[in-house]
Amino acid sequence: MNLIILGAPGSGKGTQAKLIAEKFGLLHISSGELLRQEVESGSEKGRLIGELQKKGELVPFETIIDVVLEPAFQKAKDGFILDGTPREIRQAEYLDWFLKEKKLHQIDKVIYLAIPPKVSLERLLRRAQTEDRPDDNRETILERLDVFEKETTPVIDFYHQKGILIEIDGTPDIQTILKDIVNRLSLA
Ligand code: AMP
Repeated sequence: MNLIILGAPGSGKGTQAKLIAEKFGLLHISSGELLRQEVESGSEKGRLIGELQKKGELVPFETIIDVVLEPAFQKAKDGFILDGTPREIRQAEYLDWFLKEKKLHQIDKVIYLAIPPKVSLERLLRRAQTEDRPDDNRETILERLDVFEKETTPVIDFYHQKGILIEIDGTPDIQTILKDIVNRLSLA
């Protein structure tokens, strides 16, 4: 099974992706995490990624191909959950082409964790007190929400039109959301 999980910043997509990967034995591919690892490596590419992440802006398309898609999909023969990608329409179109080119299966379902922007902001401001992410401050969170609305909402429509979108209420607790996702995947 090949899945994508999308949602506004703070929607809990990373947490749910990990749980779903464990439950179904899928490879968890988190673009945000792979990009943060590149930042930690201290490379020149990492320095540029770090600057964009700190501002809440999207990292260039070519970087996503180099740092996320190419390395991760070499290990993804037995199913994956792609967390946080595609973030814009051209990434979604490229991903379709890329999976065909690499003779990997196409995407089965796209899970969209829906939460209101107010909840995003509250959750991320709370997370800022416990985790040390340079992009969890009010100004950057607002920028990330704006980027989500402008760039990623069309991606959600793209998968809705393909008939593979599962919309999940992302506001309850972790276990309730997980149960909802698992039920919807087994009905699908
Ligand atoms: P996340 O951990 O998914 O919230 O991502 C953190 C940051 O990494 C984002 O705000 C972007 O700067 C960058 N990022 C993650 N995934 C992508 C992507 N697919 N395309 C462009 N930028 C991304």
